[in-house]
Amino acid sequence: MIKNPMHDPNPTLPPVLQIGEFPSVAYALLKERLDLFTLADIAADDALRQRIGAIVTRSNYDIDTALLERLPSLRIIATNGVGFDRIPLAFARERGIAVTNTPDLLNAAVAELTIGLMLALLRKLPHADRFVRSGAWRQGAFPLGSSLAGKRVGIVGMGRIGREIARRLASFDVELAYFGRTQQALPFQWFAQPVELARWSDLLIVSCPGGDATRHLIDAAVLAALGSAGMLVNIARGSVVDEQALVLALENGTLAGAALDVFEHEPAPESALLRFENVVLSPHMGSATHETRMAMAQLTIDNLASFFSAGKALTPV
Ligand code: NAP
Repeated sequence: MIKNPMHDPNPTLPPVLQIGEFPSVAYALLKERLDLFTLADIAADDALRQRIGAIVTRSNYDIDTALLERLPSLRIIATNGVGFDRIPLAFARERGIAVTNTPDLLNAAVAELTIGLMLALLRKLPHADRFVRSGAWRQGAFPLGSSLAGKRVGIVGMGRIGREIARRLASFDVELAYFGRTQQALPFQWFAQPVELARWSDLLIVSCPGGDATRHLIDAAVLAALGSAGMLVNIARGSVVDEQALVLALENGTLAGAALDVFEHEPAPESALLRFENVVLSPHMGSATHETRMAMAQLTIDNLASFFSAGKALTPV
């Protein structure tokens, strides 16, 4: 833990460059404990730019190599989030720059949102809310939804978050299976290919990392295998799903619906996705609870404090 009861920025830490916006409570905590500067600050002060020793960022922002080249004292990039697909990891490693993330403490929040999105999709909850508010209920009954009980749910990426989703889903009386590159010691069926898992599944949840290795892992073939009664839930990264193929499948009725927290283009998703009634959308908010974002900000601070005081980050990537 950072040791500064006076709530002044820790004097043992170098100046820290903040990339992107943080929720106000998390920002207040970071600001209290770190000597934070913006890109505008370093553009205006060359001596400051040269002294920046750390970056704090979030999963939603790109860190480019050109920026890292301009920071000669940079030793660590600490992201508030578990995904690090927008950080040039190989470049950072080559330069001896440490990278940290905030794994595990967001598992519950992301798993809860995933369950919420599934239920919203199956029971048409956004549509139902509009139905009551608009008075359309007076004209007739709301269309029937689908039950989660009895469904086959496939999970693409049975990692920390995937396993927490599975644990919660157990109480919904579903059958579970998963795809990942390696079979794990789990009581669920493992499929070696996403297309095979999709063929087996009624609902397919995507919870693997983003980045080049998983780009368009969920492509037209996987969506076709999921089939016209199948539904897709993506809480991973927009890059994992081929959105053009998804729009086509929804247009042609070869997929029954989708719930998406992440998009290929954030914060302005593919406009075609916005017009489907059978698509539930949320603004990349898997970890966006007060409790989780505060814990993530605290771990980010603790990572920097530990790295600069003991030479070792708590949760390095
Ligand atoms: P994790 O513990 O590393 O789990 C990732 C899983 O994906 C592992 O089971 C891994 O299994 C599988 N995987 C990795 N690379 C793969 C590949 N190339 N092809 C197929 N499967 C692959 O990560 P986590 O903490 O659960 O987080 C997962 C992801 O969720 C993050 O990387 C992030 O992108 C996303 N996320 C989203 C939100 C949100 O707000 N929506 C919030 C937090 C995280 P194998 O190694 O066996 O393949």
